[in-house]
Amino acid sequence: MVIRMLRVRHLLALAAALVAGHAAAQAQPVLNIYSARHYQTDEALYANFTKQTGIRINRLDGKEEELVERIRNEGASSPADVLITVDAARLEIADKMGLFQPVSSKVLESRVPAHLRTPNWVAFSTRARVIAYNKAAVNGDWVQSYEDLANPRLKGQICVRSGSHPYNLSLGAAMIAHNGEAKTEEWAKGVVANFARTPKGGDTDQLKAVAAGECGVAVSNSYYVARLLRSTKPEDQEVMKKLAIVWPNQKTWGTHVNVSGAGVVKTAPNREAAIKFMEYLASDEAQAYFADGNNEWPVVKTAKVKNPALDTLGDFKADTMPIGQLAATTVQAQKVYDRAGWR
Ligand code: FE
Repeated sequence: MVIRMLRVRHLLALAAALVAGHAAAQAQPVLNIYSARHYQTDEALYANFTKQTGIRINRLDGKEEELVERIRNEGASSPADVLITVDAARLEIADKMGLFQPVSSKVLESRVPAHLRTPNWVAFSTRARVIAYNKAAVNGDWVQSYEDLANPRLKGQICVRSGSHPYNLSLGAAMIAHNGEAKTEEWAKGVVANFARTPKGGDTDQLKAVAAGECGVAVSNSYYVARLLRSTKPEDQEVMKKLAIVWPNQKTWGTHVNVSGAGVVKTAPNREAAIKFMEYLASDEAQAYFADGNNEWPVVKTAKVKNPALDTLGDFKADTMPIGQLAATTVQAQKVYDRAGWR
């Protein structure tokens, strides 16, 4: 009898401990982030948010398209609060699917330039789409703008990734926004006619093909160039010795700039924490981590980043077309590329 009493008391104590533990777990606020970006500096980025706010972060890392699919499939019961992904075209696609909710925040409005925000998602770092050419094979004067890439004198010279890739869709969207659809289609046809080979591989593969002499000109996001510049591998240094980098369209509308960004998920169970996190990403400190993780530029002007590769690349005039306006024409860009045969 005594033994049974002890057991009951023991069980009650255990149950009480579990309830208390559960309550404690519930009391600590959490934030669930689905992220398509995963870099070394991310650990500090997330840890500092928890330190500042007491909000614990659960992170699910994955590929861009998979994360979007997942939130879509999870529907109303999705635990996702914030989706972080890259490229305006992808953010736009997620937004068109209705995955985001509008966020109004004085902090975001005052810190992130207006052309890098939309009502439903915000850019937190920028990357440029640059032209690279082989110094020994191509006259640099011939490749000073995206429009130049369609000039027949570059026949058989251009290496570029697939026209279906978001990076090229966003570039096409910028071309449509500035030059109109008809001219952009003509341009795309000219670029296709100048291909050195059928599009394959990523941006780094195009840069390496230019260095190897397989083609004379490539188009690449700036952070791939920065990565090669910072690489200690002799073969990467050899690649960069052969290449010159151009900021396209300095005399016209400026170099096409794309973004990494984030939005608060429509069904976010922790909406307040999600907005706090978005505001945190616009702080000087978080901006530095976020941008530097992928050799990008911060969107907040007061944020300081010390990145030797970006210093080497120098300053340029960026296109200031509102990113939301640009993103809206990416579907049109795909149709233009399809008609031009840019697979
Ligand atoms: Fe990339």
